[in-house]
Amino acid sequence: AAALNAYVARNPGSAAALDRARRVLPGGNTRTSLWSEPFPLCIEGGEGCRIRDVDGHVYVDLLGEFTAGIFGHSSPVLAKALADAHARGINLSSHTPYEVELAERLCARFPSMDRVRFANSGTEANLMAVTAARLVTGRGTVVVFKGGYHGGFLTFGGGGSPVNVPFDYACLPYNDIDAATAEFAAHGDKIACVLVEPMLGAGGCIPGAPDFLQALRKLASEHGAFLIFDEVQTARMSEGGAQARLGITPDMTTVGKFFGGGLAFGAFGGRADIMDHFDPSRAGSLPHAGTFNNNSLTMAAGVTAIDTYLTAVSLDALYARGETLRASLTALFAERGLPFRVSGMGAIMNIHPDSGVSAEMDRKLLALLHLTMQERGYYFAARGLMALSFAIGDDEIAGFLAALGEGIGL
Ligand code: PLP
Repeated sequence: AAALNAYVARNPGSAAALDRARRVLPGGNTRTSLWSEPFPLCIEGGEGCRIRDVDGHVYVDLLGEFTAGIFGHSSPVLAKALADAHARGINLSSHTPYEVELAERLCARFPSMDRVRFANSGTEANLMAVTAARLVTGRGTVVVFKGGYHGGFLTFGGGGSPVNVPFDYACLPYNDIDAATAEFAAHGDKIACVLVEPMLGAGGCIPGAPDFLQALRKLASEHGAFLIFDEVQTARMSEGGAQARLGITPDMTTVGKFFGGGLAFGAFGGRADIMDHFDPSRAGSLPHAGTFNNNSLTMAAGVTAIDTYLTAVSLDALYARGETLRASLTALFAERGLPFRVSGMGAIMNIHPDSGVSAEMDRKLLALLHLTMQERGYYFAARGLMALSFAIGDDEIAGFLAALGEGIGL
């Protein structure tokens, strides 16, 4: 309660911003995931790895826009790419030379991607991938997993209540080979695809066990279903995403977040024989349109982002830095005898309270940790999620660990 009162007292500007927003946005909110009690901070700007709220507090941004903000907040390279693209003219009413540049780069890096199509969000990309799988296989059911998240309105059963899921689905426990085997044995001829994150992202950064993902590959192949990897978050795990790191090649892959260089983006791709159903010169081809699918600002920012930042060397370094931070956090909590564990893969991780007492106690422990670190100038999601960007340096990580050590020592 004391920490909450201090939060309210420190952030009058954010409280006022929410009051104003409530008049025109339900609950003052347009992204449910950004809600936290008693009210979220209103962030007015950022530079490098830091963000600034409307009350003038500056934070090291350890959330990195829920993994999308991998470039930090003010890349001059991306700014130039956007300015150049704008100067060439935008909204060009047709194909452009720019979309192929991005498509070539994506197909070159993901083992599963012979062809790709662009969309405007990861949600849309998943919706299109699943739709393609259902139409091409002529089957109805989509297999998804508890705790999985594939988009704001595509929540299936795991991440919340199933809203707007316009098809049959089976929601199975994650990392459970037996359950997947049983589902295929019972209904294999009805399953169009398995849609799976190589690591549950919003579900708490739980890595998929390699043998589980391998089993899904085998089951899908044996039963004529498509395996779709949702790599909207995990594409950053190596140049070829988590699939390259795992050595498992799905039939289709969806990506999003950072491949638009910080702009709204999604893409779905896969084997040529699947994706070529979208070839409009073919009789009976599948339709897929979208005014901004090939918008030249996103295409240009994406190409520059890939060439400048999303290289094999940088992504491997970011992955290693994340693994080191997660190990340091785990060691620090253990050393202090505090009931938190840290799960994740590479530079995406989640701190989980683990009091063994009650869910309510866990909730309070995490809220206290979150508020304590925020007061010390470190920003991550209230649910414990952190995603490092390239802009975070060794100093910020050292500072964070020191501040955490002090904060939890009180
Ligand atoms: N898939 C995964 C694994 C995600 O983490 C997200 C977003 O957090 C999405 C899909 C949806 O992407 P978008 O928010 O761009 O619609």
